[in-house]
Amino acid sequence: MPDAFIKKQYEQFHLSPEVIAFAEKIESELYDRFQAIDRRAEANQLKVIHAMQVHRVSQECFQYTSGYGYDDIGRETLEKVYATLFHAEDALVRPQITCGTHALALALMSNLRPGDELYSPVGKPYDTLEEVIGIRPSMGSLAEYGITYRQTDLKEDGSFDYDGIRHALSRKTKMVTIQRSKGYQTRPSFSVDAIEKLIRFIRGLQPEVLIMVDNCYGEFVDDREPIEAGADLAVGSLIKNPGGGLAPMGGYLVGKKECIENAARRLTSPGLGKEVGASLGVMRSFYQGLFLAPVVTAAALKTAILAANLYERLGFFVLPGAGEERHDIIQAVTFGKPELLTAFCEGIQAGAPVDAHVTPEPWAMPGYEDPVIMAAGAFHQGSSIELSADGPLRPPYTAYFQGGLTYPSGKLGILMSLQKLLEKNLVHIDKIC
Ligand SMILES: *Cc1c(COP(=O)(O)O)cnc(C)c1O
Repeated sequence: MPDAFIKKQYEQFHLSPEVIAFAEKIESELYDRFQAIDRRAEANQLKVIHAMQVHRVSQECFQYTSGYGYDDIGRETLEKVYATLFHAEDALVRPQITCGTHALALALMSNLRPGDELYSPVGKPYDTLEEVIGIRPSMGSLAEYGITYRQTDLKEDGSFDYDGIRHALSRKTKMVTIQRSKGYQTRPSFSVDAIEKLIRFIRGLQPEVLIMVDNCYGEFVDDREPIEAGADLAVGSLIKNPGGGLAPMGGYLVGKKECIENAARRLTSPGLGKEVGASLGVMRSFYQGLFLAPVVTAAALKTAILAANLYERLGFFVLPGAGEERHDIIQAVTFGKPELLTAFCEGIQAGAPVDAHVTPEPWAMPGYEDPVIMAAGAFHQGSSIELSADGPLRPPYTAYFQGGLTYPSGKLGILMSLQKLLEKNLVHIDKIC
């Protein structure tokens, strides 16, 4: 049982004693796994500090630049830090990249030319990329520029369809996109080892093809990153793992010099490339967020593991499974009914430090096909390294949630979600305890 001080604090949130007892029991079985995550965070923390020291990060790097942003030493140094950290030749890390979708669109649009083909060997990409690619017709899509797209679905068991991949790759294939994390799908996320195997196979058939990894939610979960597994380009969002909760916006690309140069010229303009882009005082939070990122990612992982164990014990399908190894910070819980999904999100919202008093409602989010319900009591709008949950309102009514800048705050959100389900009579825990 929790000590009196903690118990008193939990009571302020009107959590019932059975919810607290149930969670504490589950948590007590997870200490070994939590310790392994802390060790990984320790190693990744050293990796980050070392990269910062190598490039002599100094107070000067935090200065405010405006206008063109020529000679912004903070911006230039941060890009070197990212390049070193991710074992890449070069990096583009910018507040002008508005989100993960923008970073991915930038990578694709700048490195593909009319007549090229983009290929996904891992099935359908993340929802918002459907309009970028033109899978769903959209103004300005790659399809409008005469760039075609193909995909090979994963096999029934979630593994790569090597025969299908062999057939689909052709001389037209210019770029391959591999999504590390499952996103809004019920398929496994990939380890860096699995991605490496896939990349080796593809390179064996098409040595020249450009390979990009959508690295969203994967940073610092593993002991390696995609460039180390042979990718040419890895792309992500700064309001996910690498921003550590402090970066208020932004995205990054790391990879081959030429790929990064292409992207920089698309983001700014040919002739300007990486040389411009004011940082408006945001650099300190980019650095400090990156510094915190390994430990923040660990908090998110622990929160996800607690939730998986808790909801699996209650009889729900969870992905990854309670005992499974993690390759990203996303946890999916399949509820089967809309009212459970909604109640879960309401609970997550109710545990947040910001906007806990509001009730999330499904809405037609730009870039998504179905209405999405979203719990996001975050300091930065849409920041999903902070505890947040979302789910498209479509069968099988799966909640995807992620984050928790700290483990105790993540745990509170999970307890609140269970409390909501209990209050609405949607689950019963007395039978389990
Ligand atoms: C979040 C995410 C994106 C898109 O990022 P946004 O910042 O939401 O635009 C793309 N791919 C994956 C796998 C993601 O998790």
